[in-house]
Amino acid sequence: MSQKVLVIEDEPTLARLLSYNLTQEGYDTTVIEHGAEGLQAALQRSFDLIILDIMLPGMNGFEILSRLRQSGNSTPVIVLTARNAEEEVVQGLKRGADDYITKPFGVAELLARVSAVLRRTMPEQDGKVPDSTDKVITVGELAIFPERYEVILNGETVPLRPKEFEVLLYLVQRPGMVITRDDLMNVVWGFDYIGGQRTVDVHVSSLRKKLELGQESVQIESIRGVGYKLVMPKKIAR
Ligand code: CA
Repeated sequence: MSQKVLVIEDEPTLARLLSYNLTQEGYDTTVIEHGAEGLQAALQRSFDLIILDIMLPGMNGFEILSRLRQSGNSTPVIVLTARNAEEEVVQGLKRGADDYITKPFGVAELLARVSAVLRRTMPEQDGKVPDSTDKVITVGELAIFPERYEVILNGETVPLRPKEFEVLLYLVQRPGMVITRDDLMNVVWGFDYIGGQRTVDVHVSSLRKKLELGQESVQIESIRGVGYKLVMPKKIAR
């Protein structure tokens, strides 16, 4: 059965572009061009993914996202943010978005993000034994699977956004080294990313929260005014 994608976007050209390409790719796509109606659809029907614009008539995307999450709805959400609007990215992530795409974007990027988010959030992964041929990096209590963008902590998958995963992976591959925010920006977001360092900080703080790293585990240390450093666990006596 096709995966169901809800697009809440009021610009007709962009809405058509999204709808056309997602449908071509095999997704069952619904487009709603009004904020409040979009929220209603998201709450009443079941979708596998929501693509959410921020500026919308009726109700803005932030409000929609907050209400969705407050109602206990955990459908993955990708927000569409304006160029040069880091604040939108920060707000979106704080309110529970799973990923974001900055306008203007290419179709290839869109489809890659959609498929990455769906892959990470599909319920059939629950309880699945990791394929033994997968590469795995183990640090402390964390098992990191680079090819699957998956992190397992004490036997449970930690739901990370793709960028959070990439930040963690980069740090883990350079234990003990001080990594500047600029390095992380360039490696994870790309040289042409126009946002600022707060984006990095938001991802790191969210990573820390999700990993709930205990004292005996790896720590992501803040190096004031510079960046971050991954500190390996001290010898654990078990
Ligand atoms: Ca709009």
